[in-house]
Amino acid sequence: MEELKAKGINPGLAVVIVGDDPASRVYVNNKKKACEYCGILSEEYALPGETTEAELLALVEELNTKETIHGILVQLPLPKHINEETIINAIRPEKDVDAFHPTNVGKIMIGNFDFLPCTPAGVMELLDEANIDLCGKHCVVIGRSNIVGKPQAMLLLHKNATVTICHSKTKNLKEVARTADILVVAVGRAKMVDEEYIKDGAVVIDVGMDRDENGKLCGDVDFDSACKKASYITPVPGGVGPMTIATLMKNAVTAAIRQSEK
Ligand code: NAP
Repeated sequence: MEELKAKGINPGLAVVIVGDDPASRVYVNNKKKACEYCGILSEEYALPGETTEAELLALVEELNTKETIHGILVQLPLPKHINEETIINAIRPEKDVDAFHPTNVGKIMIGNFDFLPCTPAGVMELLDEANIDLCGKHCVVIGRSNIVGKPQAMLLLHKNATVTICHSKTKNLKEVARTADILVVAVGRAKMVDEEYIKDGAVVIDVGMDRDENGKLCGDVDFDSACKKASYITPVPGGVGPMTIATLMKNAVTAAIRQSEK
């Protein structure tokens, strides 16, 4: 960061939150803390839940042209009266540090990307750090959301894995999951995946951020049960979550460098 600052590059991230969803508030606070830690300027725009789509679009437009801001993050979900797609599409692709804009999604598909989507990229980094070779391995991704499941599958494919994507209509889910060398779970259902979904020695990545029956943070995987089968497993909290934030920081710095080159 010091090197960048010496060159006059001061990465700036705008974090926009609409309404008072407690989970979103925690995520936004964590992102702000990470910015402070890394020396990235962060500006928070906390808007009331009644904010109209037009008002939010006007803010995005202002941030699109603000020179000190290189990355724009609009915390999802947005209140129901605001169309998320409209807002995402309004963010300039070069400031889209979440990589949700169709331009960036398309680039991920092709494999020639500027930004990687934060959560799937964090998962790839974890696999890489653990020296898990993906080439020719069977990866099963449970979940097909635009922000986790689909881009995750694509990134695994780019690493030459053979990828199966499962969802709520998948038949024989446990059997399919049990064929995975690497199982990535992003369903949003507390502790749904237990040892019955896991092949002996499989790698299990738990993307979920849920609450258990006591309101305690947990993942989509029943950790204690899954541990009986998995060779590697990520905990919740302390697994994929921090990697998501680390990728966001990386994307903010990349955005600032790219914009300084123009
Ligand atoms: P989402 O948009 O709700 O998507 C969930 C996916 O899981 C959907 O594709 C759904 O299938 C599938 N699904 C739901 N129930 C299922 C079942 N019983 N069997 C098989 N598939 C099922 O959720 P998301 O945004 O991808 O998030 C998933 C989880 O990851 C959540 O817990 C979220 O909080 C967490 N998350 C964590 C991070 C992080 O930084 N760690 C970041 C983002 C999300 P259909 O498509 O058929 O409905």
